[in-house]
Amino acid sequence: MNYPSDNRIKVHPTVVGGCRTETTRTAFSSENASVRISLPPQNAALTAATRRVTDPRTPGCAARIIPMAVSIMLTLLAVAQDTPGSDLKTTGFKVSKEPADGEACVEHLHKIHDAIIAFKEARQRLPNWLSELSPEFLDAKLLVCPYVSRIADLRSWRYRNIREDVFQDPKESTSYAYEFCNKEIPLWPGVKTTWREFKLRLVRHMAPVGEDAVPIVRCFAHEPVLNLAHNGRIYPNPVGKDWEETYMPRFKHEDFHPESFFLDSPVRVDAGHFPRRAAQANARLLDLSQHYNAYLDEVWLPFPRDCDLKKLPNGLQEFGGVHFDVRGLIQLSASRLLAPYPSNVAGIKVGGACAKIHFLHATRPVPVRPPNILPGTKVASYVVRYANGTETEIPILYGDDVDNWWFDPSRPNHKLGRVVWEGENAASKVENRKLCLFLTTWKNPSQDQPVATLSLNSAMAETAPFVVAITTE
Ligand SMILES: [Zn+2]
Repeated sequence: MNYPSDNRIKVHPTVVGGCRTETTRTAFSSENASVRISLPPQNAALTAATRRVTDPRTPGCAARIIPMAVSIMLTLLAVAQDTPGSDLKTTGFKVSKEPADGEACVEHLHKIHDAIIAFKEARQRLPNWLSELSPEFLDAKLLVCPYVSRIADLRSWRYRNIREDVFQDPKESTSYAYEFCNKEIPLWPGVKTTWREFKLRLVRHMAPVGEDAVPIVRCFAHEPVLNLAHNGRIYPNPVGKDWEETYMPRFKHEDFHPESFFLDSPVRVDAGHFPRRAAQANARLLDLSQHYNAYLDEVWLPFPRDCDLKKLPNGLQEFGGVHFDVRGLIQLSASRLLAPYPSNVAGIKVGGACAKIHFLHATRPVPVRPPNILPGTKVASYVVRYANGTETEIPILYGDDVDNWWFDPSRPNHKLGRVVWEGENAASKVENRKLCLFLTTWKNPSQDQPVATLSLNSAMAETAPFVVAITTE
């Protein structure tokens, strides 16, 4: 497959509410400015009211000073931003920059917080979804941002929006994102969490800066986004940034990822889940069964969601003129990869002399930003161990042998790697992206010498190699 030679573009992650999607976008801004709002110090009543509202011991307080402060912030931010209202991702609706819309939304957020507190006292737990609050604890009308109810029907507003998980209230009755919902987050094979469990851990992790940081409910209908913190504080995102960035560098980007809280939970695959190796598969199609650590038909890294290899034809398949046994994959680690995959998988049996070894493989970027991976970077080394005990290394170079498996089909950046499969999954479809796998063929300089084993080693660059199949010739 030939692609223009001048279209290699560096992959920059796009941050979506603190979690990056695997995509090719413009560079992330490193600006660190923030807007500070000072309330008049001489106004003791106002200061006291502010303290009361932001004090986690008095949740549900009906003070309305904070809407005023938020309104001032929104006004300043509207002045500070001279760009026209930006499109909400994929829905076509404009987000509002009008302070009045923000103020009306803040009123709803206060009432939602009061209702969450009342619910928690009555049921001794947080609601699984905001719809659980109504009708007993909240008028259902308050679950829709006044601006949203003016511009859009709820369903088209909600779906295909950023952070889909937290919008998936099963009763489809709210425009607000509920970040403490009980929607599952599959992390890696055998390990999953929920948004609530992750966010509760994050609240504990951020205890040194107080309990007013982590949002529980958010309204994405405004620019900046409005956040209702876990303890009742309402605040807008800093200009052009996510709320998390207020707390950097004290907290790292990784701290805001659910994966970070579960890294001591190892990958656990069930051998019975992989398709059975075909009886006609010969020994040249290496049997990787005992080394697989991820399934093709399930996610093996949590973000983006629904990002699997379900559509890769499995069993005995031919890619790029080479036959492969395709039933699972071996994911290796990388620098800053937030998942407990191994940096080394050794002892893959080969057991014969060969002229060539073919690898069907690719890489996945790490979920941090900005990635630091340049063409020519060694991302893995596959080591051939001959029966006589000698070894030789096959270096795997980014751009030459493999590239990001996720690409923009209008601007593919894998000009040198040999793409032998292109496909998609639910996540790539949403982003208008495609997936691909690369074929690397290594010529053996010692063709008469039997090869005993292969080992796969990550070079711990900032992209994580994975191997789907290996065939000798
Ligand atoms: Zn709103």
